[in-house]
Amino acid sequence: MFIGHYAPGILGASTGKIKLWQAFVGAQLVDYAWATLNLLGIEKTRIIEGFTEANPLDLYYMPYTHSFGMSIIWAVMGACLFGLIFRKQAKEGAILFGLVVMSHWFMDLIVHVRDLPIWFGTQKYGFGMWNHRMASFSFEIVIFALAMAVYLRKTSAINKMGKIWPVVVIVFMGALQVMGNFGPPPKSTDELGISGIFIYTVFALMAWGLDKTRRFKAVEV
Ligand SMILES: [Zn+2]
Repeated sequence: MFIGHYAPGILGASTGKIKLWQAFVGAQLVDYAWATLNLLGIEKTRIIEGFTEANPLDLYYMPYTHSFGMSIIWAVMGACLFGLIFRKQAKEGAILFGLVVMSHWFMDLIVHVRDLPIWFGTQKYGFGMWNHRMASFSFEIVIFALAMAVYLRKTSAINKMGKIWPVVVIVFMGALQVMGNFGPPPKSTDELGISGIFIYTVFALMAWGLDKTRRFKAVEV
């Protein structure tokens, strides 16, 4: 899954307890780790054209980042680290960040083919929506757009950029989803890893731009 991962994060940030950029990092925390471990050769991916309709990724070994058990550990570590770094944010912020990290596995479960283990060496799961390109593409776009709609309703623009920037973010992220599902396959797993880390960081910076140009509306009593 690609931009669909941000939907739970955006909903989390819509509570105002965590920043949108933090939610973006949290939503892809395990994919940051996955990209890094792939580059190091610890987790393994094959690029096989036509492996699924939606993308060519045979993610045949990734228990450190995409097993259910390790996802819980990543979420707890993420929450602890969040609490240590952002001491000013309430405790709920750290818990919410952990939940966003955990959401990654469940979102992947919907679209991945059977490549998500429960633990090292166990049976793998995945509901396989990637076997239907249009379905998985539409699913990611729709949940991302719905979550953005919630966020935009809860916040208002501080300045002109606060009105323009959401459009830029939505169009840019939507375009990259199109590229991911309909564009050419990555040339190598190294390219996949490097471009992943780069793109997740660009998205997080774009989210930071939204944090800076929009504020939460006062709650009406
Ligand atoms: Zn993932």
